[in-house]
Amino acid sequence: MVLAAVQTAPRRIELREFPRPAVGPDDGLLRIEACGICGSDVETYHGLLGVGALPDAPHFVPGHEPLGIIEEIGERAATRWGVEPGDRVAVEVVVSCRRCPACLTGRYLSCSNRRGAYGVRPVTQEPALWGGFAEYMYLHPDSALHKVRKDLPAGLAVLFNPLGAGVRWATDLGGVRLGTSVLILGPGQRGLASVVAARAAGAGTVIVTGLAKDAAKLALAREFGADHTIVADEESTVDAVRELTGGAGVDVVLELTPVATRPVLDALSAVRHGGRIVLAGLKGKQSVELNTDLVVNKALTVVGAFGVDYAAYDEAIRIIESGRYPLAKMHTRGYSLADAGHAIDALAGDVPGEEAVHVAIMPNSNLPNGSR
Ligand SMILES: [Zn+2]
Ligand SMILES: [Zn+2]
Repeated sequence: MVLAAVQTAPRRIELREFPRPAVGPDDGLLRIEACGICGSDVETYHGLLGVGALPDAPHFVPGHEPLGIIEEIGERAATRWGVEPGDRVAVEVVVSCRRCPACLTGRYLSCSNRRGAYGVRPVTQEPALWGGFAEYMYLHPDSALHKVRKDLPAGLAVLFNPLGAGVRWATDLGGVRLGTSVLILGPGQRGLASVVAARAAGAGTVIVTGLAKDAAKLALAREFGADHTIVADEESTVDAVRELTGGAGVDVVLELTPVATRPVLDALSAVRHGGRIVLAGLKGKQSVELNTDLVVNKALTVVGAFGVDYAAYDEAIRIIESGRYPLAKMHTRGYSLADAGHAIDALAGDVPGEEAVHVAIMPNSNLPNGSR
């Protein structure tokens, strides 16, 4: 039997056992080393987002940022993925069809026959183990895998997910390259990952904003290579950016703050004429009232960031493996399966005294119960 954490209702996760899935020629089984947790896990746990917000929400195994060791694999799957038992892999969240026009032209995040995604499928769909909050996760034949070196600590290697987002948003969508000045709104794990990606791409001035309560994250941003940090609830972001850029504004703004709408307007004001804005912070049901003349008159490019693609994950893994950045400092701690709900609360900042940048569930690492 396989032990898994199952979300059964908002703010309720319980441990359950499922039969170990049988592996055929095209699929596989992953022994989970670590599964990262992000803001969307928090909102799903609170019943505000995705599968967690459905009426009569189905029971499901959460966890869409899995890293693990190939435990068992079918012959054709081994050939297709180029892996064998014992290899360490990172698994992408989206399971696309690999056959439709979108998939075949490399836009697999736009796949119209998506086979779903990890961390959202109900346990009533065989073989139930569709998420990373479990000792083992089933590997669907259409999964996308990335090999990762095995000598790195799991808490470091599992950063492939937030760092993949940093690479995708800063360099692919933001176009950051040698000398580009960047403003990153929000110092969460993806904001910090964007600092690293921007630095790796050779960015010029890098500026990061946060709130007064984010002091530790802003210090980490500086350690990762940010030149300036702005405390947005104590000073004006736009004034500070103007001062730091001699009045010109920055080339690129990455807007990563959850829920808050003000930073979107700050982005429009802080970017230079002809600059670029990447919107990646979801605002829930709120709309932003903005003057579109600003976009026209400043000749701006505004890009929406949905998902992370294969190339960005690969690049993120190379950055982690290079050892050039003290990325391990971003991973705060691992939690046992029994502490999954607590881990999500810790990431959300709801556990006094447990400030966390990045946390992961580590189902097989024998963390003593209650150890954080
Ligand atoms: Zn995530
Ligand atoms: Zn497709």
